Amino acid sequence: MQGAQGDLLRLVATGKAESRADLARLSGLAASSVSLRVEELIDARLLAEEGSGTSRGGRRPRRLRLSPTAGVLAVADLGAHHVRLGLLDLSGTPLLVEERPCEIADGPRATLDRVADALDEVVAARVPAEVPLRGVCAGIPGPVDPLTLRVVTPSRMPGWNDFPVAGHLATRYDLPILVENDANLMAAGEARRWPDRENLMVVKAGTGIGCGVIVGGRLHRGRGAAGDISHVRVRSDSSVICACGHPDCLEAYASGAALMTALSEAGIEVTRPADIVGLVNDAVPEATSLVRNAGRRIGEVLTVLVNFFNPDVVAVGGSLSAAEPLITSIRAAVWERCLPLATRDLEIAPARAGRDAALLGAGALLLEAALTLP
Ligand SMILES: [Zn+2]
Repeated sequence: MQGAQGDLLRLVATGKAESRADLARLSGLAASSVSLRVEELIDARLLAEEGSGTSRGGRRPRRLRLSPTAGVLAVADLGAHHVRLGLLDLSGTPLLVEERPCEIADGPRATLDRVADALDEVVAARVPAEVPLRGVCAGIPGPVDPLTLRVVTPSRMPGWNDFPVAGHLATRYDLPILVENDANLMAAGEARRWPDRENLMVVKAGTGIGCGVIVGGRLHRGRGAAGDISHVRVRSDSSVICACGHPDCLEAYASGAALMTALSEAGIEVTRPADIVGLVNDAVPEATSLVRNAGRRIGEVLTVLVNFFNPDVVAVGGSLSAAEPLITSIRAAVWERCLPLATRDLEIAPARAGRDAALLGAGALLLEAALTLP
């Protein structure tokens, strides 16, 4: 769907418009053009018009909404050991969310085929035959080139380097396909929970460390690695070699993977970063101290970025973010070292969108792709 029709549908799908008058005002199109296109969208069963909207005096406008048969979006957010699957309507509202075990280390072909099988299964089980699938999104825990939609030099993903993820999925789906870094998806979803803020940094503190950047309300991808803070060098007395081969990357000290290694060396075995949160809540001193140090190191890196970018919000999500000392330490480091003008009105807060942030972000980005691509 091209141009103006897509714009009008998006305004309704995102809840910004609920009448033809709203559409005319927001799109700048003449009322007659809006009416013509709305009729076409209703004929195409993308929009439905019914009941009465908010009255502004005079005749009550009929209310526009997405047709229940307008379509669904299928999203798979891949982690190291699991995949989170989501079916969303075109407004981005989740219809189904479920998590399944999935080893990303099995390599791209096996992993993506398993994910596509799972998506086909939930679509067949949950989506009526007359409702079309309109787009597929894969969230990847590594860097993605936005031009080629290939994975580029990821950590902990053997066999994935330079793999054409979109090309592989296109052999199964003749639909718009979006392949996006997981922290970028999370940032796009989190941005929907801060509708009055334009500039955000969304840190994902999980097994790895990622960050997505929202500039002027839109995801900033750069060349694909924008927001990647994991391989920034940090100051250290000793030297630790990162998975990337360089010494003293932030990830080698402050990621969930690094904390699990450090705990193991202290004789405390955990299997996933979320377990570290449990240890902190149980006041295990080793865990609390490690998380506090991780927060301080992340905060020191953010200090540079906050001075440079002056975001309105730094939101911290990911499985480690539920550990309170992490956020507190990040906040302390940023407040201590940043310019007062950079921290005036700055909010550093736990992410609001919760576990489904990446799915929400995928829905928002995929709607755009589904409505603008031919
Ligand atoms: Zn590194």
